[in-house]
Amino acid sequence: MSERAPATSARTRRQRSYRLTGIVLHRRDQGEADRLITLLTPNQGRVTLIAKGARKITSRKAGHLELFTHVRVQVAQARTWHIITQAETLHNYPRLRASLPRMAHAYYMAELLLHFAPEGEADTPLFDLALETLAYLNGSDNLLLVSRWFEAHLLRITGFQPQLYVCTGCRAPLSLDVTNYWVPVEGGVQCPRCGEAKRHAMPLPPRLLKLMRYLQVHTLAEARTLPVIPETWRELEAYVQGYLRVILERDIHALAFIRRLRQEKGKGGREGKGIGQ
Ligand SMILES: [Zn+2]
Repeated sequence: MSERAPATSARTRRQRSYRLTGIVLHRRDQGEADRLITLLTPNQGRVTLIAKGARKITSRKAGHLELFTHVRVQVAQARTWHIITQAETLHNYPRLRASLPRMAHAYYMAELLLHFAPEGEADTPLFDLALETLAYLNGSDNLLLVSRWFEAHLLRITGFQPQLYVCTGCRAPLSLDVTNYWVPVEGGVQCPRCGEAKRHAMPLPPRLLKLMRYLQVHTLAEARTLPVIPETWRELEAYVQGYLRVILERDIHALAFIRRLRQEKGKGGREGKGIGQ
């Protein structure tokens, strides 16, 4: 049985090749010399493509396809993985690349996006969120704020936003004068009466509930002006992790890495000096 003859007109060839811009979220080796590259794109969500020969030292494409690079690629359609034929860097975030704590937070962002980003479906807000987060992980010294802000907006954009205004048990409005309870398995916050006896419920002081509400509706530029100490961002981290663990049904590997770096810094390590991590 012969296959249909390949179309040869210039027009068809053009259709078989297309351009994409995206952020490199993940890379994995394929075969002897190739690499699979997962991009987050505005128009097609999460897309995995193959970069042939990308592991050869002579590859010109490879340098443009580093993790967390904002790239423009030319892609040729193929039967299995579509093939990256050209790559061009739009931003490569040099400060991020030079700092282990910044990279750790970028890994954290990428791990969450790999889970939450739709495959093959447009999601411009999610792409814009990722781009803004990378710019701040590159430029800001308050990495803790950037990651907390990213989580809040990731959950909002993907429809997993926790309920922070009414009790998810009895639907009564939540008071900011009492300690409520954080109950991830029930989708957010509960009043003292509903939440107190729940297994795995964490008491949620009003100052943290206020902070969660603030992050949900403010830009990162606004949130940067908050007088919040690093310790508070780390406290909040534990609450959000509990919530993400319920959604993902597993731990986030990059968080263990962030915490290890933090411990080393605590022991007097030089890495990340001056950076709130
Ligand atoms: Zn209640």
